[in-house]
Amino acid sequence: MEIVPGLHRLRTPMTSKALPWIMPYAFEGPDGVSLFDSGYGTPEASEWLTQQLHGIGYQPSDIRRLIVSHGHPDHIGMAGWIKEQSPHCELVMLGREAEWFHDMRHGPSEFMDRTGGWLVRHGVDPDEAKEAFRRASAEHSSGDDNQDSGDVSTETERRSWSMPSVTADVRLEDGDVLEFDNWKLEAVWTPGHTPGHLCMFEQQHQLMLTGDHVLSRITPNVSLGDQDERAGRRPLAEFLDSLKKVAAYDTKLALPAHEDVIDDLPARCATIARHHDDRLDEVYEGIDDDGSTAADVSAEVTWNRPYETFNVFKKRSALGETLSHLQLLEEHGRIARQDDDGVVRWQRV
Ligand SMILES: [Zn+2]
Repeated sequence: MEIVPGLHRLRTPMTSKALPWIMPYAFEGPDGVSLFDSGYGTPEASEWLTQQLHGIGYQPSDIRRLIVSHGHPDHIGMAGWIKEQSPHCELVMLGREAEWFHDMRHGPSEFMDRTGGWLVRHGVDPDEAKEAFRRASAEHSSGDDNQDSGDVSTETERRSWSMPSVTADVRLEDGDVLEFDNWKLEAVWTPGHTPGHLCMFEQQHQLMLTGDHVLSRITPNVSLGDQDERAGRRPLAEFLDSLKKVAAYDTKLALPAHEDVIDDLPARCATIARHHDDRLDEVYEGIDDDGSTAADVSAEVTWNRPYETFNVFKKRSALGETLSHLQLLEEHGRIARQDDDGVVRWQRV
């Protein structure tokens, strides 16, 4: 699909039924093509990209630069393969995201160790946390068969989460304008979904490339994890500010990484902000009169599927999402935290 002359919306497959595609955006140039986001590091995804590039007259070896919105595997996973096909391709990221991506890649075992403690601190049963840690370690160690892990069911799914060994060649700062061929893209730092999430504003046609920050139907996961807690991050507050930030641009059309294009970006941002307001109330109501842990609250609030059916990974991400809301409620003075023998409990005030 050609959005404006020379800018194409491509697609590569995901492994999720709920979110079947990721859309890379291809900017044509006289001596090659530049991409915003790519796809998983799977043969299926790279085969799709190859076909789609052929459709607009390019090959993978013509990719001059890959700009990624953030360091999740469906956006950056294919970067290693792209660099093999096109060794001079530049990987462009926001500097903040490049740091975060580096930390994620280079400390998995330590990261997982701490995650176990984090789960227990927020009310997950220690035996369950140990099991989560065991499975997560299996997931992260390379070359194992994962046969006993019911969560990582197929080889394809496992590979789809593998992260490429790449580092950013170009690190952008908020407000930088990236110029190439006839394109001018302004970097818009939109922390929330990840610490260094990048949207890009295409100035000539007033298009906002939103990555995962704003999608047309679902809302991105905004989580407070162990790493975020230690870094003093406020993901939900940051995310809500980032919604206002992109809404303030005079955008003709927003181009997200999944689902449909968005005609009215400010309206969509307002809807997502309202969703989080409702969610804050629901999390508040989910706290017992005599206090609750974040794990207790997670089990109380509604999810797209029943909480009881969640595996340890889903529970971990539900917990992170609940915590980002608890953190903001605390900031608003509606709740307070208590340390109960190493376990954090929340109380309405
Ligand atoms: Zn993402």
